[in-house]
Amino acid sequence: MPFISLGLAPALAQAAAELGFTAPTPIQTEAVPAVLAGRDLLATAQTGSGKTAAYALPLLQRLAQAEPLTPRRVRALVIVPTRELAAQAGEVVRSLALHLPTKPKVAVVFGGVSINPQMMALRGGADVVVATPGRLLDLVEHNALRLSGVELLVLDEADRLLDLGFADELSRVLALLPARRQNLFFSATFPPDVQALASLLLHEPTRIDVPAVATEEAVILQQAYRVDTNRRTELLRKLIKTQGWQRVLVFVATQYLAERVATKLHQGDLYATSFHGGLSQGARKQALAEFKEKRWDVVVTTDLAARGIDISQLPVVVNYDLPRSAVDYVHRIGRTGRAGASGLAVSFVTPASEAHWRLIEKRQGLSLPLEVLPGFEPKEEAPPPSPGDGGIKGKRMSKKDKLRAAAAAAAANKPD
Ligand code: AMP
Repeated sequence: MPFISLGLAPALAQAAAELGFTAPTPIQTEAVPAVLAGRDLLATAQTGSGKTAAYALPLLQRLAQAEPLTPRRVRALVIVPTRELAAQAGEVVRSLALHLPTKPKVAVVFGGVSINPQMMALRGGADVVVATPGRLLDLVEHNALRLSGVELLVLDEADRLLDLGFADELSRVLALLPARRQNLFFSATFPPDVQALASLLLHEPTRIDVPAVATEEAVILQQAYRVDTNRRTELLRKLIKTQGWQRVLVFVATQYLAERVATKLHQGDLYATSFHGGLSQGARKQALAEFKEKRWDVVVTTDLAARGIDISQLPVVVNYDLPRSAVDYVHRIGRTGRAGASGLAVSFVTPASEAHWRLIEKRQGLSLPLEVLPGFEPKEEAPPPSPGDGGIKGKRMSKKDKLRAAAAAAAANKPD
């Protein structure tokens, strides 16, 4: 079914086609007509489902029934949890708007960068603002924008907004919005706090539940966090505590690190143990059996545990150290999401391992936003490129050598 039959303007369908979107994804097929009809939306959607275009396309069409911009007014507000997602969503909105006769003004605002250029960009008002909650409130306080004219609100990844501790900021933003508006609510999961937020916001919403991947396949949500080498244990502990992860398998590069990280987590109030080839067969068997019986929350392991063992329904796998190769990545993340159960695979990417991560991503055909948990902004400097990275003919390292060198560099980094 072509985009145009969903009721979209030819200019929007053309822009979608130019992005390589030949046919709408299931979430787009359901969301577009409902949003165009002015309905509120409650959608279960994950990254990869095409959810961004599912709200961006009808949002742009609704705004195309143009009204002149007035200073500081915002017509559509998209709230997202991270700066990476803000940049990504802003890009999708801009690309889809490319052929509209009156191009909407799109502003993307997030923290961690200077506020002044964002204030300048908002001066004459904006049709669409894509924002993280904290910076949005800063801009309101600086009188750089008004939210009382918002016609359409999108909450993207509502569960992560709450996980990341934005509940207060969100309620302050919501208090500034006009009562009459259209609300689009997207979340990958619906724990009670997300449900409560949805019922507060939405008026007789159209419900859409679209799995990200074909149901017979395992659904593995993949995420990557940027973090300094010496803060990985702290980040891990924080994520386990704040996201309520239970039964986490953590991969590290060496047996020494497996012991060390498990000990640190244990000291930090988590039931954590190690599992690696340096343990006796008996100790390994026992650790595994206890993990299966759910006596441990966290098992820290080397690649020993990446293959073969089937711990059913293991919910979370963490690459504390990145795997040596893309093949190892597949084996590691395959520990979760087994037998059709959904799983989460999280990779920690340090400044020193970023180049290696890019290679894994490329091999995997992945393109994940590199997220930063507030308070864990990386400060380490990336190492200079290794001599073999240059373009000298005959002296270039093979991809395999690059992966090995990066893994060796990562393993050589001081553990925390
Ligand atoms: P999202 O779920 O919005 O993060 O989108 C996931 C990926 O799917 C992005 O790379 C989009 O460019 C792509 N995408 C979105 N809609 C379509 C479509 N209709 N056809 C093909 N790819 C799409």
